[in-house]
Amino acid sequence: MTKKKPLTVQCPTCRKDVDWSTSPARPFCSERCRLIDLGKWSEEAYRIEGEEINREEEAHTLSSDEI
Ligand SMILES: [Zn+2]
Repeated sequence: MTKKKPLTVQCPTCRKDVDWSTSPARPFCSERCRLIDLGKWSEEAYRIEGEEINREEEAHTLSSDEI
């Protein structure tokens, strides 16, 4: 009984377990999570440049499906 354990990683965006060998968007669980993470990074960059950022707008951006 030697069953290979599938390699799983944690999606950096939603912390869901992702099967490394089958997920096309790894290490993310989906393309959507990948884009959300990219969005976060660009927001970080904006924050460093101009520290004034509207928190309400930030939350709206993250929950939008149009990213
Ligand atoms: Zn995810």
